[in-house]
Amino acid sequence: MPPRLTSLPQRYLILTLVALLTSGFVLTSLLSYYASRSSLRDNIVNTELPLTSDTVYSEIQKDLVRPVLISSMMSRDTFMRDWVMAGERDPQQMTRYLQEVMSHYGAYTAFFVSDKTLTYYQAKGVLKKVGAREPRDAWYFRVRDMQTPYEINVDVDMANHDALTIFINYKVFDYQDRFIGAAGVGLTVNAVVKLIEDYEQRYQRRVYFVDRQGRVVLTGAQGGPLGAHSGQRLDALPDMHNLITLMPTPKTGSYEYAAQDKKHYLNVRFIPELDWYLFVDKREDSALGDLRQSLYLNLLICLLVTALVLALLKRVINRYQRRLEVLATRDMLTDLPNRRGFDLLASQAISEAERDTQPLAALLLDLDHFKQLNDNHGHLGGDEVLKGFAQVLRDSLRHSDILCRWGGEEFIVLLRATPGADALQIAEKIRRRTEEYAFTYAGKSLKITTSVGVTGLQANDTLHSLLNRADHALYRAKQSGRNCVRSELPQSHYE
Ligand code: GH3
Ligand code: MG
Ligand code: MG
Repeated sequence: MPPRLTSLPQRYLILTLVALLTSGFVLTSLLSYYASRSSLRDNIVNTELPLTSDTVYSEIQKDLVRPVLISSMMSRDTFMRDWVMAGERDPQQMTRYLQEVMSHYGAYTAFFVSDKTLTYYQAKGVLKKVGAREPRDAWYFRVRDMQTPYEINVDVDMANHDALTIFINYKVFDYQDRFIGAAGVGLTVNAVVKLIEDYEQRYQRRVYFVDRQGRVVLTGAQGGPLGAHSGQRLDALPDMHNLITLMPTPKTGSYEYAAQDKKHYLNVRFIPELDWYLFVDKREDSALGDLRQSLYLNLLICLLVTALVLALLKRVINRYQRRLEVLATRDMLTDLPNRRGFDLLASQAISEAERDTQPLAALLLDLDHFKQLNDNHGHLGGDEVLKGFAQVLRDSLRHSDILCRWGGEEFIVLLRATPGADALQIAEKIRRRTEEYAFTYAGKSLKITTSVGVTGLQANDTLHSLLNRADHALYRAKQSGRNCVRSELPQSHYE
């Protein structure tokens, strides 16, 4: 095999291409990833979270504003005040009043607690007496003592199977502004919680409420930040310190913080009706999941394309290289090895002969008056004769013999394991066949003869010295009038 002259540049070419393709692909993939990430971040911070916040807020307003108004009206209702001041006679009147409020305004529950008798009235009748030592009644005594006219309190409703309820607890005063009890309506938080959960599931974000003191007050079923449940303080959660540093107490705004090694985007909005803050929180990796997946897919496709391009390139290069190798060692006209191809084959044959102490014969052949043939029939005619002569040589030799077009109309044959006498016979056979052969070109029959010089491998011979002797013999054949075989055969070393 000829040496692979292209292997080094080929490696450089492949390495350069791999570097170019991968760096190009990786760079564009990463650039588009970071661009998408930043636009996604902008979208989350500026659009998605505020929009969720808006929707939840407007839903709450829809659900809360009316109950607050109704409760406010109840607290100033003349019937209620007159009935209490008249000594709370006929509880049915109060019950009917509360039923009216419930059915007319579509409230979930309506109530009145009298401060004088501590009786808890609701639409179905008298529920109970509230007691200062009863933890479940603590709300009433808180309302009694508070400075503001009303509070919004999320609590279980005893009158309704302990369902979680938002109560609007309004203070009721008589006409002299003396506190006479608390009235209001309650609404289940189910609708709000359902909305929160819908948002949490659909958009993978956390929606929850926090009071002014930073206490989680209302969450979806999955809880608040990091699974925190109602009643827990944000600053008591071990992984929220990053956010607490940014926002020691709840404050409206947009925040980016880290919790449990994950980046979070947070939108905080104050809901005055509830006196709570609405938190809408999105973890970055849940938002980036799809993006990252498409980045990996991109990179995988890049890898495949690179591998495919390389495989194709390697195939093309290999094929091209093999063609080059063939071109470099073959003579195109006769399809015989050329001088370059011959050099490799010949040195191999000489070493084998020396190693196996086998005779090796060399024949140098030169067509006679070929110039004249070219002149008479044109170059193409000469080419046809050269091709035909190569075929005569092939037909006259064994497969194991080495055949070469040395140049022009000169050929060399190396005969393995062939003593001088046999080589002379073979040379003579070739000479005779050439002389007899009718080469055809353009419908004409051309004749040619060949002169042959024969020699055998000697001890310490090089390819050069061997061919030199064959050349001498050929010269003598030409001198002897051409179309003959002459030899230079000193006693062969191995015969
Ligand atoms: P001699 O008997 O002394 O060998 O005479 P010659 O005319 O054959 O001698 P010479 O070596 O001077 O001429 C060889 C000619 O072969 C000259 C050259 O133009 C021709 N020739 C060499 N290569 C090719 C080839 O590929 N095709 C053709 N058609 N002619 C070639
Ligand atoms: Mg010649
Ligand atoms: Mg010649």
